[in-house]
Amino acid sequence: MGLIVMDLEWNQSSTGREPEVAKLPFEIIEIGAIKLNSEYEMVGEFSELIKPIVYPRLYHITSKIIHIQMEDLARGGRFTDVSKEFLEWCGEDPIICTWGPSDIAELQRNLRFFDCPLLNDGPVKYIDVQKLFALAFDKDKNNRISLEHAVDAIGIEKDIPFHRAFSDAYYTAKVLAKIATGHPEVLKFVSFDVTFPPKTKDDEIFVDFGTYSKRITRVFKDRETALRDRDVMSIVCTECGKPIKKKIGWFSPNGKQYYAAGICDVHGLIKNRVRIQKYDDESVCAIKIVKPIENDGLMKLQEKSARAEELRKKRKEAERKAKEFRSSKKR
Ligand SMILES: [Zn+2]
Repeated sequence: MGLIVMDLEWNQSSTGREPEVAKLPFEIIEIGAIKLNSEYEMVGEFSELIKPIVYPRLYHITSKIIHIQMEDLARGGRFTDVSKEFLEWCGEDPIICTWGPSDIAELQRNLRFFDCPLLNDGPVKYIDVQKLFALAFDKDKNNRISLEHAVDAIGIEKDIPFHRAFSDAYYTAKVLAKIATGHPEVLKFVSFDVTFPPKTKDDEIFVDFGTYSKRITRVFKDRETALRDRDVMSIVCTECGKPIKKKIGWFSPNGKQYYAAGICDVHGLIKNRVRIQKYDDESVCAIKIVKPIENDGLMKLQEKSARAEELRKKRKEAERKAKEFRSSKKR
């Protein structure tokens, strides 16, 4: 297993009118990467430009941020060739490490669009260095800061300019090395890209991180089907994995995240959270996080549930009034 720290630059439509916009909002124009050995030392480099063909005009903001000109890209290779060369360079079963979740998703989308073999046709396990940075060094464990801020915060020397794929991969590799030496305990918190969902129950992903567990379910034909599925909606215990007694029934403050809580006789209060990941064809998969909580956590969840219920009532009332108004106009 090799660790590959990767960074991409991409271009987008300058008019928003191309027919490809929905399928390929961002076209990769540069791949930069660093190969690390098990001691987190740099042992290989990859840096290639790609000539864009879907959006051949460079979006003005892209060119401002990353200092690439169209003349540079005109000398770049085709995505099909460069990505193939890159994946061969990565070697077998690489673990890709990136700053934040978008690079893996865009790589998968570009591979699909250009009919290249995918990293994986289901979820891709990767290391989100931005997430690990917060876990290791930030008081707010969910904080996401820019790579340059992170580099400043832990005093890494800025010896090459930022915002080119190779240099950003280089700094991400340096940050990862710092995390690995200072806080090796956070390295186990791997991430999964779900640009493509698990196809069957056998392909589902389950990881027990110790302090919480994560399940990525198979694909369902739509949200309603997922929300009726027992695997998705049963309230379970982190340790036992089995259904437990309900304390707070499922509620959603926003239609994207769903929450519930239960109590296990052995392991105490447990929070369940489900995020629905939606795809273009209306199909979805569910990402379920199960985590032990204390009493104050349960109280917070109760308040959240009450607020969600109030909102739901208000919405219903508004709908009822609108309907009344419409029917009174008809008369
Ligand atoms: Zn239990």
